[in-house]
Amino acid sequence: MFITCENLVKIFTLADEVELLALQGLDLEIERGEMVGIVGASGSGKSTLLNVLGGLIRPTAGTAKVDGRNLLKMSEAELDRYRRDEVGFVWQQSTRNLIPWLNAAENVAYPMIMAGTKQRVANQRSAELLEMVGLADRADHTAERLSGGEQARVALAIALANNPSLLLADEPTGELDTATAEMIYELFRTLNRELGLTTLIVSHDPGIARQVGRVVSIRDGKLAGETVRSRPMADPSAPQTGEPAEEEFEELIVLDAAGRLQIPQEMRDELGLKRRVKLEQTEDGVLIKPVQTEKAAGDES
Ligand code: ADP
Ligand code: MG
Repeated sequence: MFITCENLVKIFTLADEVELLALQGLDLEIERGEMVGIVGASGSGKSTLLNVLGGLIRPTAGTAKVDGRNLLKMSEAELDRYRRDEVGFVWQQSTRNLIPWLNAAENVAYPMIMAGTKQRVANQRSAELLEMVGLADRADHTAERLSGGEQARVALAIALANNPSLLLADEPTGELDTATAEMIYELFRTLNRELGLTTLIVSHDPGIARQVGRVVSIRDGKLAGETVRSRPMADPSAPQTGEPAEEEFEELIVLDAAGRLQIPQEMRDELGLKRRVKLEQTEDGVLIKPVQTEKAAGDES
């Protein structure tokens, strides 16, 4: 397994010593070369998870392993090296990715030069990377004059500069229109396929399931569910036959190591599932039934 998180916990201690549980025992496994979408409400812990996996913040407890490295046990120096050599980031705000007054080529070369690469080598690599993201013809445009989609491409080129094995993107299409977002996802897929790059993309768009191999959803700092393709991803070269059918996707609920699962709020409300429920084993599986007295009591409140 390329990424393994087990019972991963991240506690932020706020100024007044209030503790905030950003990750509350998260379990997640990702294979090398997978392209995974991460969805969840604002504040559910998506960015915290990316920051932990990218070695930017240290988890509080549990296990977080990437390619055999234990992120909880690494020294500061090891964590720095890991982040520099293995991880590419695309940040949510384009201002964090790009320096507005530098042109596209300079934006891509800059972090490499800062990391000690010779100017000439960095320029050469920058040109290759811009070619790779389809932006060679915009190399001399300053970042602030590029469109949102073009800025996202530059951000991706920067993320790839250190030839990472793990690409982490935090809402990379958040500020883009649907058509442009579609093109950026297409680029992510191409890079994932051609470079074998394990890719994690955080998104608030539930439609991301159409763009990636698998989607995991996070709720309250825990893995709550997964959407998987019930048929393999369509061959992009095959002729398109309209919109992909609904039944291509299957939404699954995740059981944690202790056998706990989360029943979506809407379902609990609709069926009157309160604090206690009845489990009934049937031929097909397990039926979760409301307790009648609790349903009545709950309806009054
Ligand atoms: P998401 O990306 O899903 O919106 P985050 O991972 O950013 O969620 O945040 C999860 C929770 O952790 C939120 O309640 C947020 O306020 C809190 N949090 C995130 N980063 C910090 C931090 N550096 N210090 C304190 N609290 C934080
Ligand atoms: Mg976030």
